[in-house]
Amino acid sequence: MVTLFLACAASTGADSHGRDTSDHAQDNLLASPPLASTDVVIIGGGASGLAAGRTALDAGATVIIIERESALGGSALYAGSYFAVGTPWQAEAGYTDSVELALQEWATLTNGGDPSHPWVENFLQDSADNLEWMTTFGGDFACSNEIMGPSSVPRTHNLQPIGPHPFTTLIEQLHTSAWTETTAKSLLIEAGAVVGVVVEDAEGTQGWIAAQATVVATGGFARSDRWVYEALPALKGLPRHVGAWHNADGNGLDIIEAAGGRLENMDNIAIYGHSTTDALLGAPETQLVLGIEEGVVVDQTGQRVMNEDGLRGVWGGREALQHGQLYALYDETIWSRLKISGYGYNYMPVSDGSMSSAEFAKQSELPQAMTFQELGAAVGIDGAALLQTVADFNTMVDSGDDDDFGRDMGTADALRDAPFYALPIAAATGKSFGGAALATDGAVLDRDSQRIEGLFAAGEVAGILGGEHIGMGISGSIAAIVYTGRVAGESAARYAGH
Ligand SMILES: Cc1cc2nc3c(=O)[nH]c(=O)nc-3n(C[C@H](O)[C@H](O)[C@H](O)COP(=O)(O)OP(=O)(O)OC[C@H]3O[C@@H](n4cnc5c(N)ncnc54)[C@H](O)[C@@H]3O)c2cc1C
Repeated sequence: MVTLFLACAASTGADSHGRDTSDHAQDNLLASPPLASTDVVIIGGGASGLAAGRTALDAGATVIIIERESALGGSALYAGSYFAVGTPWQAEAGYTDSVELALQEWATLTNGGDPSHPWVENFLQDSADNLEWMTTFGGDFACSNEIMGPSSVPRTHNLQPIGPHPFTTLIEQLHTSAWTETTAKSLLIEAGAVVGVVVEDAEGTQGWIAAQATVVATGGFARSDRWVYEALPALKGLPRHVGAWHNADGNGLDIIEAAGGRLENMDNIAIYGHSTTDALLGAPETQLVLGIEEGVVVDQTGQRVMNEDGLRGVWGGREALQHGQLYALYDETIWSRLKISGYGYNYMPVSDGSMSSAEFAKQSELPQAMTFQELGAAVGIDGAALLQTVADFNTMVDSGDDDDFGRDMGTADALRDAPFYALPIAAATGKSFGGAALATDGAVLDRDSQRIEGLFAAGEVAGILGGEHIGMGISGSIAAIVYTGRVAGESAARYAGH
């Protein structure tokens, strides 16, 4: 931990928290010597900050990484699936893929993403190298056989537990460049260029770091009510939960906006429908239900409202929210094979990071009953309607055709074995894909789409690669996060003269 020594100067203006916001304060702060001077300062030590830091160091720049937590890493170590095209791991698994094919499929793959966006082609062109770069720090990849979304070939690469985890290596390597337990508060701007960062230590003492170039890599905003409701006002008043990394508060967006940066794709927020209220922490926290789509989803009138398979996608929660409070109904056979996980979000990764459905039912006092009439009474839904819905569903499972919503009944099971369960579905903001508008070298653009001198951004705080249906390892996901970090690190080092 680094202790800062510079206190903020006398105030002539203050925000609602009493913090000094005046130009006078900035002048006074700048008149004091910096705590340190560096070529590149990186705000945030997650995957994007680590990739930016390693790349800038390799280019010969001096680097300081500001990280408010006590350790580097952010959510990097939790991600296991990496998106890439035309890789040796795909070839090894017998798949032929190319950038051209991925570009052709991009619009459907991302449900509206624009393949002519320059970041898309750059990212795809680099994506195989991106993963090879990762493996120089440890680990290896294997191409999954599973096809995610409307792709013609599998493009998900799973990190294999072989040798050191690449991010563990990067964290170790960048440890000496890091100022942990230090929070970036704002950027210092001189003659239109960003020249440093105001930082605060754990005791609240402020000072500044002089830097030729600054990279903002502070992560996403899916946990922030303010940013989420500003982007999607229709969510206001709906029973939205949160299923995001605990640090995803969007504070870097304030830093970027205050420096004149433009934000884009802000309404591109993944709302997952595969969660329920956390049994131990309560709302708005959620736990992921592995296999939630195996049940029958009904609204408060007891009617089935959607193809349950949709709950697994990044937009499943959007649909679910439109119907008010939904319940997933299970019988004992299905319920007993589900797993409830909080892994990586609300709980440290203990064992496999999940609890059994039986344990969850006990902890959450989940409504259960021997008949659907009793179950309806327990959750305030007409029992006769529930019984009819389940009877109709079972008939469709037997016939193999879902006449109502087109679910693949070949993989569905009828609900027949008491007791029966009614799991409340908690639609949760899980990932944000909007953020700073960037030039293709990672420079932050202002409201007139001009570059802000000395300012770069990477990772979830960047708004690139927007498009619906994203979340299948593309924007806001680890491969793009690493790529944007490498681009920003290289550009920041170059801007600093390396
Ligand atoms: C459980 C889990 C599983 C995942 N699985 C996958 C997966 O399989 N595939 C995939 O593609 N993606 C996955 N992801 C997403 C992926 O891990 C993230 O998108 C990525 O790690 C985000 O990196 P980042 O650098 O943008 O942000 P973060 O990891 O959030 O890092 C940002 C860092 O900045 C710091 N910070 C923020 N503000 C400040 C400030 N003002 N001053 C100083 N420091 C600050 C934070 O403390 C944090 O350490 C997963 C995420 C989670 C949480």
